[in-house]
Amino acid sequence: MSSRGGGGLASATTFDQMRQHMQSAYSIRLDSSIDKLEFETAKQGLLGVEDVLRELPQLAGSIKYIDADMGTSAYAYAQARYSAGELEFHLSMSGWAYGSGETIKKQIERDGTFHPPKTTARSMMAHEVGHIAEYTLADRESASVGAAIGVMKKRRVSTNIVGAACKQVKKTPYGKGKKNNELIESVSGYASKNRSEALAECVGDYFSNGKSSNPLSQAVWGILKEKLG
Ligand SMILES: [Zn+2]
Repeated sequence: MSSRGGGGLASATTFDQMRQHMQSAYSIRLDSSIDKLEFETAKQGLLGVEDVLRELPQLAGSIKYIDADMGTSAYAYAQARYSAGELEFHLSMSGWAYGSGETIKKQIERDGTFHPPKTTARSMMAHEVGHIAEYTLADRESASVGAAIGVMKKRRVSTNIVGAACKQVKKTPYGKGKKNNELIESVSGYASKNRSEALAECVGDYFSNGKSSNPLSQAVWGILKEKLG
């Protein structure tokens, strides 16, 4: 998917150019709070969003807007909100992390194996789009908004996908004889938190490391593509 009349995100030199690109290419609104972030680092985050949307353009319609949260301690997050009878999903980049490329880089280094290898400000946002993928499937597979919220709270989609991916990997020499939790822990420390984070960490790993990403990450990504395709 390319932007109309623009050079795309990578060549954007102003927040307004990025705003125009995200709107015309994906119908995603960039909130004005984004302009408080460091331009190059915010761009890296948006490039991470675009990395996933290039492969799964059907997710673009699920992201209503992207904003900056100057108060959160998280690097970034994905959120589902109930608004006027509908579920609405958005992404936030934090002020401390996306407000300084140096700070986020140093913090990722300090976190060590808590994140997949080669994690960056860019791949962190690919992780967040992984959460959007889970929300989208929960919404799609549910008969009502209430049911979808229940599916999200129980992490049913990620539990199923990560479980199916573990099953696939156990059939390979790498995964033979390993337990699900062992396979998940080897993606990253954070992947062990719960199945939603496991799924999102696999997406982040896939976009940081491609063909050299963890076998579980590649299996999760394959299932996601199939389910959303
Ligand atoms: Zn997450």
